[in-house]
Amino acid sequence: MEIGLLSDIPTYAGGLGTLAGDTIKSSADLKLPLIAVTLISRLGYFRQELGERGEQIELSVPWNPSHLLVRWPAEATVQIQNRDVRVGAWIYNQQSPTGGAVPVIFLDTDLEANRSDDRTITDHLYGGDDSYRLKQEIVLGIGGVRILEAMGTEIRKYHMNEGQSSLLTLELLKRYGMDAEAVKDLCIFTTHTPVQAGHDKFDYSLVRDLLGDFIDIEVLKKLAGADRLNMTGLALNLSNYINGVAKRHRATSMDMFPGYEIHSITNGVHSFTWTCPCLQKLFDKYMPGWANEPEMLLRVNGCPDEEIWKAHMGAKRDLIDQVNRETDADMDDESLTIGFARRATMYKRTTFLFSDLQRLRRANHKGTIQIVLAGKAHPRDEEGKKAIQSVFEIMDILHNEIKIAYLQDYNMPLAAKMVSGADVWLNTPLPPQEASGTSGMKAAHNGVVNFSVLDGWWIEGWIEGVTGWSIGPEPGEDISFEMARKREIEDFYSKLEYIIIPMFYQRRDYWMRMMKNSIGMIASFFNSHRMMRRYVTEAYL
Ligand SMILES: *Cc1c(COP(=O)(O)O)cnc(C)c1O
Repeated sequence: MEIGLLSDIPTYAGGLGTLAGDTIKSSADLKLPLIAVTLISRLGYFRQELGERGEQIELSVPWNPSHLLVRWPAEATVQIQNRDVRVGAWIYNQQSPTGGAVPVIFLDTDLEANRSDDRTITDHLYGGDDSYRLKQEIVLGIGGVRILEAMGTEIRKYHMNEGQSSLLTLELLKRYGMDAEAVKDLCIFTTHTPVQAGHDKFDYSLVRDLLGDFIDIEVLKKLAGADRLNMTGLALNLSNYINGVAKRHRATSMDMFPGYEIHSITNGVHSFTWTCPCLQKLFDKYMPGWANEPEMLLRVNGCPDEEIWKAHMGAKRDLIDQVNRETDADMDDESLTIGFARRATMYKRTTFLFSDLQRLRRANHKGTIQIVLAGKAHPRDEEGKKAIQSVFEIMDILHNEIKIAYLQDYNMPLAAKMVSGADVWLNTPLPPQEASGTSGMKAAHNGVVNFSVLDGWWIEGWIEGVTGWSIGPEPGEDISFEMARKREIEDFYSKLEYIIIPMFYQRRDYWMRMMKNSIGMIASFFNSHRMMRRYVTEAYL
């Protein structure tokens, strides 16, 4: 549904989209024969502005596809409410310096032949009601298969990145004489969220209204759920390879969807994209070839500490300059800088680090800290919006004591600045709700040290005091919900005060080792090159 390739193509909301973008970039580098399909989202997701008290203002981001994409002459047709809806396509070619390329198809219903309301189906990313959403998913899943055919491509495997595209299985079923086994052989499904509300479900009355007689509803109910059309259920039932995005997420998904075998190819990020230019240069000098072979980052110990620190300071200055341009936080380059950027939503716990202001003040007396935050709330997530406002209230309370800034409009360029310019990257999701998380992997590529709740990918990347620090109990610990929350708060403040701040200010040699371990032990593994190689050998072939 979303792909984040460039900030000038604003067809992504967050982690799911940036992961899709990184998948495509690594596939191009590795010369994989892959074509990506998504929606054009002509009005983008939204641009976030924040009022004086942190009230989120949502502005649409109309963009002109013709600047970066090429119109493809082929069209396809899907039927919605028994009328024809034409689906057009734009192509962006993701080129790699290796000579590889992956075409990305952006589906577009804004065609003159369509009724005026149908022309808007591909306007909003994650906007509108269930009916609008199901129409989008008809265009994406069914329209996607048909446009690939209209272009004359021969597809050997279909990889559904989250359930929104799973209507493609129905199109394939019809082509293969309703032979479910044949369709399963063609399909791979990656599930991305352990949060129930994250899985699209549609009433069959709506399905009947929009899909008409495309498929026998009784057959559909057997595949996608008796009560409602569950897009995830449909994908699970018609895929031979199902993937969760980290080992922990695999386990959570097996509990959520009993009876399915689920694998775990853990996510990664595109190394070159997420390494800041200063470090790119350094890596080129000491580990040439790292961008297309990120395993080489293992050899980071060959880079002199001073050069890594100098590169890091370059990135840090960039971030601090932006903070000081956009806010009145008046930050400096020397203080320990904590970065936190997340979708503002309940389980991400935006205000966790402010749980005990007295202890935060105490830590700040041991050595100055400054905190940079960012993140959008979904337009309908009132709790998420309130969390942003709470941060603004806390900024007022701590005014003149601790420098805090909440930057507006978290997007890929801002993410790149934050994950390289902070010293410590903080993540405090409520476990087990973080399927993987990827921003901590981006931070590690820049020698920014992770300090995070043990959830998602971090369980696999974490070695205490070596690659970063944990917050709260390990997944297997027999501990009540309340005790786990207490432990998290205790760990956060005590590690900050007694380990992280003293090490940053007094043991720069230890700190440098942790920066290098982040690059050598985390970035060398948690990259999308490794992820795609595994998808190829374990899922695609
Ligand atoms: C990487 C990225 C994310 C994902 O971050 P998480 O760690 O999964 O929260 C979200 N938004 C943007 C813009 C990103 O670049």
